[in-house]
Amino acid sequence: MEDDDRAGTKTEDSWAAELSPTQFAVTRQCGTERAFSGCFWDEKRAGTYRCVCCHTALFRSQEKYDSGSGWPSFFEAVGDDKLATIRDDSLGMSRVEVRCKNCDAHLGHLFPDGPPPTGLRYCINSASLELAPSDGGDVVRG
Ligand SMILES: [Zn+2]
Repeated sequence: MEDDDRAGTKTEDSWAAELSPTQFAVTRQCGTERAFSGCFWDEKRAGTYRCVCCHTALFRSQEKYDSGSGWPSFFEAVGDDKLATIRDDSLGMSRVEVRCKNCDAHLGHLFPDGPPPTGLRYCINSASLELAPSDGGDVVRG
């Protein structure tokens, strides 16, 4: 039996075959899409945002808000147990990196300047997400 379907055992090559170049650069190489370049920063539809790699539900449209940053922003995740947070001191900044706990995909960063009630801003790359609309429409991949 192949165990390629288990996210944790996938090689970088198999991720590269499944993902678009942008999705791969963001999720597997900790890249950042350009502000206002992704497909979800201005997305208003109701639905669930899932990890583009392993399809785990991560965020919901109810907790999405317009931060003005050009990236999809959420003040709360579906559950803290879905995300891993890692200190990131790259680029001369001290930030908190957010990853999918299930498959280790890089998602974006977490900042302490979000709106009530949490005061948090999950600043997430569109390319690391897919939207499953509440109306049952087709899943949109970032
Ligand atoms: Zn994942």
